[in-house]
Amino acid sequence: MLALAGAKLGLKSHIYCPDPNSPAFDVTPLKTVAAYDDEAALRAFAESVDVITYEFENVPAATAEILAGLKPLRPGANALAISQDRLAEKSFLASKNVPVAPYRAVHSLDELKAAIGELGLPAVLKTTRLGYDGKGQRVLRAPEDAEAAFAELAPHPLVLEGFVDFEKEISVVVARGADGTVRAFDPAENVHRHHILHTSTVPAVIAPGVAKHAAMLAKVIVVALDYVGVLGVEFFVIGGERPTLMVNEIAPRVHNSGHWTEAVCLTDQFEQHMRAVAGWPLGDPTRYADVVMQNLIGDEVDMIPNGLDGQTQPHLYGKAEARPGRKMGHINRIIRPELL
Ligand code: AMP
Repeated sequence: MLALAGAKLGLKSHIYCPDPNSPAFDVTPLKTVAAYDDEAALRAFAESVDVITYEFENVPAATAEILAGLKPLRPGANALAISQDRLAEKSFLASKNVPVAPYRAVHSLDELKAAIGELGLPAVLKTTRLGYDGKGQRVLRAPEDAEAAFAELAPHPLVLEGFVDFEKEISVVVARGADGTVRAFDPAENVHRHHILHTSTVPAVIAPGVAKHAAMLAKVIVVALDYVGVLGVEFFVIGGERPTLMVNEIAPRVHNSGHWTEAVCLTDQFEQHMRAVAGWPLGDPTRYADVVMQNLIGDEVDMIPNGLDGQTQPHLYGKAEARPGRKMGHINRIIRPELL
C-alpha cells in the first residue's frame, strides 16, 4: 500500500523482505529477498535508496540500527525499539504523562503473584515482544490461572496489566512531517472479533472533548519520539460521566484502523507516510464522508466481488493463501446518510 502511494507521487520503492511471497512484490520490480540479519544485503539495499522506512514493528532493532547508520531511517530506530517492547513502550508513555493501564513487569512466578496482589483480578498477562492480534496474552480470572499462563507465554519477561473495563476502543492515526508539522486523522471506533480488528467506523461515537484529547495525546507521543512518518495509537475509552482515555498500544507505521482514509480523505495514511518520509509537506487529513472499514479475514475474502456496490471500495492484498485469521484485504463502505 505504501509502494502504491509512493508510485502515485513518482517515488520508486525498493522492498526488502525475507518472505519471497511478499504482496509488495506485485507492485514494484525493485526487491531484495534476504534475512534481516544479512549485513551484506542490508548494505547493498541501503546503497540503492535515498531514504528508508518500515511498515512492520518486528524488524529487529539491530537491523534498524545498521540501516540508520547508512541512510536516513524514518521513523527512527528509537521509535521501533520502544514500540516492539511493551514494557519499554509503557514506561515511555507513562514518563510523558500519557495514561496507560496499571502494569507490572513480571520476571518470575513470584513476581506475577505479587503483581496480581497489587493489581487485582481479572488482569491480562502479555508477552512484551511479538504480540499482536491478541496473540501472546491471557486473561487471568482466578489466582490458579497464574502458573499455567506464566509457563505458556514466552519469551519472558512478561507484563501484567490491570483489566480495563472499557466502553469502547478507538484509535488515532497521526503523522509528523520532517519539518515537525503534526496532522491527525479523525479517531476511528474499532470493533474486534476474536482479537482481530473487524471494523473501524468513522466518526467514532465519542464526545468532541474525547476526540480532541485523543488527538492531543497522539501529538504528545510523536513529538516526544521526534517521529517522522505515520503512527497509530490505540486507546481504551473508559465511560462514565466524564469519559477518560488510556493508551493501549502504539504502532510505528500505517495502521489497519486507518485504512478507511483511502476512501474518504484527500490524503490517505499511505500517502501521508510517504510524504513525511520523503521530506515533503504533509497533506490534508480532512475527512469528506462517514465510512466503515471492514477487514476481510481468511475466506471472507471470497465474498469479493459479491457484496460490492457503488459505495464500496475493495482493497485486496494479493496474499497467496487465505489462512484462518489472516488479513486478506478490506472494504471501505462510504456512509451517506442523505441517501438512506
Ligand atoms: P493488544 O494485543 O494489547 O492490542 O490487545 C488486543 C485486545 O485485547 C485489545 O484491543 C483489547 O480488546 C483487549 N485488551 C488488551 N489489553 C487489555 C486490558 N488491559 N484490559 C482489557 N482488555 C484488554
